Amino acid sequence: MDYLSTRGGGERLSFRTTILAGLARDGGLLLPAEIPDVRGRLAEWASLGYADLAFEIIRLYADDLDAATLRSLIRRSYAAFRHPEVTPVVQIGDLHMLELFHGPTLAFKDLALQVLGNLFEEVLGDGGRELNIVAATSGDTGSAAIQGIRGRRRMRIFVLHPHGRISPVQALQMTSVLDGNVHNLALDGTFDDCQTIVKSLLGDLPFRDRHSLGVINSINWARVVAQIVYYFYAAFRVMERTGSSSVRFSVPTGNFGDIFAGYMAWRMGLPIDRLILATNENDILARCFASGVYRVGEVAATLSPSMDIQVASNFERYLYYRAEGDAALVRGWMETFRRTSALALTANQAPLDDPVMVAGSGDTASTLATIREIWVRHHYLLDPHTAVGVHVARQRSDRSVPTICLATAHPAKFGEAIRQATGDDLAHHPLLDELADRPTRCTQLPASRGAVAAYLETALNRH
Ligand SMILES: *Cc1c(COP(=O)(O)O)cnc(C)c1O
Repeated sequence: MDYLSTRGGGERLSFRTTILAGLARDGGLLLPAEIPDVRGRLAEWASLGYADLAFEIIRLYADDLDAATLRSLIRRSYAAFRHPEVTPVVQIGDLHMLELFHGPTLAFKDLALQVLGNLFEEVLGDGGRELNIVAATSGDTGSAAIQGIRGRRRMRIFVLHPHGRISPVQALQMTSVLDGNVHNLALDGTFDDCQTIVKSLLGDLPFRDRHSLGVINSINWARVVAQIVYYFYAAFRVMERTGSSSVRFSVPTGNFGDIFAGYMAWRMGLPIDRLILATNENDILARCFASGVYRVGEVAATLSPSMDIQVASNFERYLYYRAEGDAALVRGWMETFRRTSALALTANQAPLDDPVMVAGSGDTASTLATIREIWVRHHYLLDPHTAVGVHVARQRSDRSVPTICLATAHPAKFGEAIRQATGDDLAHHPLLDELADRPTRCTQLPASRGAVAAYLETALNRH
């Protein structure tokens, strides 16, 4: 399988090169040259366990890796999950909750990042190659990425988070990891500032080559591929349970990575009737689906910080498909967006008339009300991100098709929101409770590219 840039730069990369590069050299995102049609394999896949299903799906996109190596790498990646099904689907009233929080950092990011750490190690091989990962996090990516990379030889990771804008537990999950190859940087700015700095460092090709920089954010294709798997897994469970021949998914969305994986599953032929994109008050994507105009607003801090994002990196991949693969059109759009912070999508390509994707948003009041109501009625705790998804799913429900809501984090990661919603300190997890007294390490920096670049150069000279 070859990979191409959304901006048409002319490179054709293998899977190995794609995951090491992260971003195309023309600044675009990498996509497979074609999407496999798997409709003929659904019946056979429906009975597979999680790791075996992951192998079948990932190998379609990673055909330059040895199959036996890939299978064992995937098995190892999911062995650390605390549920035998990896991503169980539990029924709560008329909703099906896809629990994606049984990994080491209790958020869905683990599903991809455990695999990606192992993939990097495999692809770097025994040669002298090194990889220095630079990542921006709005909270959950950072800790999951650190758990995927900590302690590995020939890899270092630098994680930028917005100082004071992630939950205390999220901060502790990152800064309490003291491995020498892990660097936590707290920037005085927003997540979008962090992401802009990362993109700018990676866009500086001489800098990127000199320091062997790599990408672990959801712009890395391997993240998307690994996330496709649970859409299949959950659809199989729920179609079997309900007898329905299709399902819809509700996806709490920030950077558009998770829902884009669902979109790929749909394009591969999984019978998805709707993908419901749910945002919090940072609703650039919901507004775009309503109006056809993609326009940046101010970032607001909310109860669901991992969705406090205005510029969604993966949206460019979606735009590429909406432009029917016209890379010149995408390049023009992204250039307009860079210059004006807004993009009006022309009528026939406007996301308005998307056959599968619909969007909506929830605010703080509806998030708290949803958490409270599901707790009172079902004794089930939703984390605030998941609650936004459940809220929007209900606006979009259709009795004839079962709805699967992605439960993207364990509620204990956001204990303060649970307290606000229920009046009680109900959400705990032993993994998080034991972090409280751990020693931490973190460096605070101004939100400037220069400061981060200087830190990186100094640190890499020391390694
Ligand atoms: C990252 C994250 C999201 C948003 O996912 P995207 O892929 O960025 O759209 C939602 N919920 C939680 C808990 C997250 O960690």
